[in-house]
Amino acid sequence: MILVETLRTKNMLKNRRLARAISDAGFGDFLRMLEYKCKWYGRTLVKVDTFFPSSKLCCICHQKNAELQLPDRWRCPHCKTEHQRDENAIVNIFVEGLRILAEGRSVAACGGPVRPKREPRRAPVKQETSLETSSHAA
Ligand SMILES: [Zn+2]
Repeated sequence: MILVETLRTKNMLKNRRLARAISDAGFGDFLRMLEYKCKWYGRTLVKVDTFFPSSKLCCICHQKNAELQLPDRWRCPHCKTEHQRDENAIVNIFVEGLRILAEGRSVAACGGPVRPKREPRRAPVKQETSLETSSHAA
């Protein structure tokens, strides 16, 4: 299973400081390729919505800290836990992803009827493997 947080890159590109890094990384292309590969290999891809407050939610007490301005480190005003922004967000994305998965609203895109065999398409080196592959294909 792969969990990703979708980002609104069009909005983020308006931010000059972020624009270049986002353009270079090609997040949209990466996500499309990831979906395609997950479909191909029958893997589960869970996309956590861009509006989920992964950075602003305390992963310990689950209080949302709306005033947070994305500092690298912050202390939850409710439970006083010290957080590193990205580590806290990862825990929140993971938990939210599992919730989405449990609700069954993940990834209609993945593991569908186009699911291929796990064998590579190239001709295998061993003769018996070749026979095995052809019997599966029949
Ligand atoms: Zn907290």
